[in-house]
Parts: sequence; C-alpha cells; structure tokens
Amino acid sequence: MVQKVYQVHEIQQALELLHQHTHQAKLLAGGTDLIIKMREGHVNPAVLIDISSMDKTRIIEVQGQEIHIGSTATFSEIQEHPLFQKDLGAIAAAARSVGSPQIRNRATIGGNICNASPAADLLPPLLAMEAMTVLRSKETSRLLPLSDFLVGKEKTALKSEEMLERVWFRKLEDRSGLGFSKLGIRNALAIARLSMAVYLKLDATGRCLEARVASGALGLTAQRENEVEAFLQQQVIDETIIDQAAQVLEKTTAQRLAGRSTLPFKRQAVQGVFRDALSQALKTSLRREQS
Ligand SMILES: Cc1cc2nc3c(=O)[nH]c(=O)nc-3n(C[C@H](O)[C@H](O)[C@H](O)COP(=O)(O)OP(=O)(O)OC[C@H]3O[C@@H](n4cnc5c(N)ncnc54)[C@H](O)[C@@H]3O)c2cc1C
Repeated sequence: MVQKVYQVHEIQQALELLHQHTHQAKLLAGGTDLIIKMREGHVNPAVLIDISSMDKTRIIEVQGQEIHIGSTATFSEIQEHPLFQKDLGAIAAAARSVGSPQIRNRATIGGNICNASPAADLLPPLLAMEAMTVLRSKETSRLLPLSDFLVGKEKTALKSEEMLERVWFRKLEDRSGLGFSKLGIRNALAIARLSMAVYLKLDATGRCLEARVASGALGLTAQRENEVEAFLQQQVIDETIIDQAAQVLEKTTAQRLAGRSTLPFKRQAVQGVFRDALSQALKTSLRREQS
C-alpha cells in the first residue's frame, strides 16, 4: 500500500528520494500506465514520487546536432512541437497516435519508454533514430542506447535508484528521412497492435546507404529488424524492392511469432504497415535531397 506521496519540482529532489527509498519507490509521471498497474495489483510501491510538475525535464530542444526530449514532455507537447512538424513529422505522428487527447495531455515520453511495453508507440521511431537515454541517480549519470535500455517485455536496464532524465537523437542529415505507421484496434483509444518506423539515408545516386527499421508489438519488446535492414542496404528503393523487403519482413515475423494466435493477422498486417513507413521515409529523403 502507498504510504507516502511526494511531489517534486527539481530533479535533485527526485534523485534524493529515489536514493532514500531504493526498491520501495516508484516515479509517477502521467500515471496512465502506473496507476492502472497499481489498481490491478501488478505493482505495489510504498512510496510514490510525483515528477509531473518537474518543468526542467519537460524540454524539447536542439543542442548542436542533437534533438533532446526531456522525460516529462507529454505526447501533446511532442505532437505540437515545431521540430516535429516537417521532416521529423513521424515523431509527431507517433505521439498523435497515442490514446485520446486526455491521455496525450498526461502521458509522458519517459513513462512510455520506462514502461517498456512491446507496443509503446514512441519506441519504434526512437529506435530507428538510434536514440540515447540519459539515466541519472543521486551520484551518477550514464548514457545508454535505447536498444540496450530495453531488455525484455516491460523490462529495462534502469536501476532502482535511477531515473530517465531525457532521450536524444541526432538530427536528420541530408538525403535522410523517417516514416512511422501504426495499425491499432480502434483509432482513438487503441494501443498499437502493430507499428513500424523506418529511417533511410540515401547516397547522391539514390541508393540506400543505411536503413534502420524498428517494429512495435512484433516481439517481447520494440526492436530493430536486422534482416530487412540488411536487405535494403545498397538498393535503389523502387516498387520491386519495397515488395521484396516486405516479404523479408513477413518471413522474419512468421519465424518469430510461430505458434502464436496473432500470427495470421500480423504477417499480413506487417507488410502494409512497413510499406507505409518506408514510403514516407523515402519521400522525406528525396525531398531533403532537393531542398
Ligand atoms: C486509455 C489508454 C490508451 C493508451 N493508448 C496508448 C497508445 O496508443 N500507445 C502507447 O504507446 N501507449 C498508450 N497508453 C499507455 C500510456 O499512456 C503510455 O505508455 C504513457 O506514455 C505512459 O506515460 P506516463 O507518463 O503516464 O507514465 P506513468 O504511468 O507515470 O509511468 C509508467 C512507468 O514508467 C516509470 N517512469 C515514468 N517516468 C519515468 C522516468 N522519468 N524515469 C524512470 N521511470 C519513469 C514509472 O515509475 C512507471 O513504472 C495508453 C494508456 C491508456 C490508459
């Protein structure tokens, strides 16, 4: 049972409390995952540290060649931010696809990452951008690639005394683009049944220099799809290559989800969601070549 709730305004206060109440405390951001888990009896913290009023971790800003998003930035703030209205519109699209307006006004990027649901919508675009997590404790600060932070279904590398301060990724370079696509059960309130993000970087002749494909809800955690990435490497991406790449991904899905009841649906759906995300990434890469 919760015995104490602290509301904090500064990160140092939160870190001090996490230190004092190691293994007993949980950070409460928007509460849209945690409160449900507590209600259902899956977690039972003695101490709650409410970080929702911590303004300094709400930043969304450019630092040199990097874009930094603080952990308490909400989905609404991300979806409306000018940085995500054009070439990085896929980040806004992922944020916009989450829940209802009420959920988006409360739910944070930090909660989405730390809850580590396989279907968390911001994870595929962040993985495709090779995002880094900044993890703080009272005495230490460390940097971990998001791909290493996610260690399993709802499991992360976060230590009991640590909090996620922010996440950052590099800005898009010339001739590169990001796409996001999601298939939910219903539009407004569904958590993704399947989502996909694709990052592409082309060379001057239009050949794919680098492809990063990340999926949500196709395994125990959101993850990079290495086989299809390798297939796209050095290809000029036209309709034939898109068809073949979709088949590579379908095969990976079939192997990974063998025996699951969701397989017939997902092996069909993955192709459409992937094509959509890839086409968007390609379109942005080509546009950024011309501008
Ligand atoms: C009706 C409904 C619809 C939803 N639809 C979607 C959807 O479409 N897509 C989707 O991805 N999600 C969806 N969700 C899930 C949820 O809204 C998101 O995962 C949200 O981002 C969680 O953020 P939060 O701020 O509410 O986290 P909280 O619930 O406050 O916290 C979640 C977990 O993260 C930890 N945590 C939070 N912040 C930090 C931090 N800075 N450092 C360390 N640990 C931290 C908490 O201790 C807790 O364990 C939905 C939820 C509901 C109720």
